[in-house]
Amino acid sequence: MKGVSMIKYNKEFWLLVGSQTLYGDEVLNTVDSRAAEMVDYLNESGRLPYKLVYKGTAKSNLEITEIISEANYNKVCAGVITWCHTFSPSKMWINGLAMLQKPYCHLATQYNKAIPNDEIDMDFMNLNQAAHGDREHGFIAARLRIPRKVIAGYWQDERVIDRLGSWMKSAIGVAVSRELKVMRFGDNMREVAVTEGDKVEVQAKLGWQVNTWAVGDLVKEMAAVTDAEVDALMETYKASYYIATDNIDAIRYQAKEEIAIEKMLAREGCAAFTNTFQDLYGMEQLPGLASQHLMAKGYGYGGEGDWKVAAMTAIMKAMGEDGNGASAFMEDYTYHLEEGNEYSLGAHMLEVCPSLASNDARPRIETHHLGIGMNEKDPARLVFEGKAGKAIVVSLVDMGGRLRLICQDIECVKPIMSMPNLPVARVMWKPMPDLLSGIECWITAGGAHHTVLSYDVSAEQMKDFANMLGIEFVHIDKNITVEALEKEIFFNDIAWNLQ
Ligand code: MN
Repeated sequence: MKGVSMIKYNKEFWLLVGSQTLYGDEVLNTVDSRAAEMVDYLNESGRLPYKLVYKGTAKSNLEITEIISEANYNKVCAGVITWCHTFSPSKMWINGLAMLQKPYCHLATQYNKAIPNDEIDMDFMNLNQAAHGDREHGFIAARLRIPRKVIAGYWQDERVIDRLGSWMKSAIGVAVSRELKVMRFGDNMREVAVTEGDKVEVQAKLGWQVNTWAVGDLVKEMAAVTDAEVDALMETYKASYYIATDNIDAIRYQAKEEIAIEKMLAREGCAAFTNTFQDLYGMEQLPGLASQHLMAKGYGYGGEGDWKVAAMTAIMKAMGEDGNGASAFMEDYTYHLEEGNEYSLGAHMLEVCPSLASNDARPRIETHHLGIGMNEKDPARLVFEGKAGKAIVVSLVDMGGRLRLICQDIECVKPIMSMPNLPVARVMWKPMPDLLSGIECWITAGGAHHTVLSYDVSAEQMKDFANMLGIEFVHIDKNITVEALEKEIFFNDIAWNLQ
């Protein structure tokens, strides 16, 4: 199932082409018209998720600093892409690049695909020297230690366009991150360590505004929800899900919770929220279906007060397909350790987003007793199986002095058993490189039990996201060994402590 509503972002990306005045007007006019042709082609390819805008061929320090200043303050510009058709001496880029605050990609391409055997002469070489110009251009970003993505390849190659599009989505994640507000109802679950973190550091690095609102305020908001509002949301539930309970009052109560939470989120401009089962004062049920349907709309959520995973869920949803991809709050629960057939089972006590659901059956609304927490009544929740397919799980942890983003490749499967007495949504997967090494790597890196599981955001996109924001990235993939990972994080510790 796709998300219920699609959030589109009014963002675009700017292409700036590097050159110099040495070549004369004729060459510069050719560069200009070819760059415009390239941008038109890329936009019309239908493969880029956001519009690319050609901002001109820069020939001087002044032109470059002016365009980059504009990119910094322009709210619609989500990133800058550069390319050198000709040679562009890089000292003219220092002032501009040193002040760049938006994600940056160096597209190392060239106008012609093949070297034309008969046509090639020194005039051709002067005009078509991306291999030359891009190296000078690459040096200065390396020398200035500017975070960037380098994408090499012919501009009409679909793989190149797709990588550019993938990078754009990471940059959208950064734009969303920098404006993100998280609403917390109550604090973290008592005594839990991994859900803690330095909110001041996180705001400085990632932009998140994480603040608290009283559960009592939510209860007041719920009291003001009308029957008509609940009736309307019940129609949406009926249209989207299979109602597998006679306890309609429990569902109506969840609808009231959802409406009240969404009103508060909208009023405060928050795109993510957290709550904890240890603080339900005045509420009969922990929000289950309510939180699940809010996630389906694109909101981030974290259980037990986990504001880091709530924020990452909102960001990764925004990075995914149509601005609300199949990315969701997840928790590692239990393992199937049968030799040669090992799996991990993920779920949560209620709150799994139906964007993960397989298309085999509609998610079921069920009510069951929930022993943990302060529930007076049985909470309604969506129960379903997760879909099969390649995915990732992502965890952001606070290492004290820095943030570490851990990403593990996983292969989700149709759950190998039906688990008829399990009253929650469930996803089953094989982590890379294999279950046991995967567990050892994850635990060695300090990854949390809460993650964002995503079917449509890639590990490369998460690496790009981490690079853009200047945080540590650890990738557990099919090729890693525990020993290699131990060394990597040992050296990472030294490197990050030097910064
Ligand atoms: Mn949890």
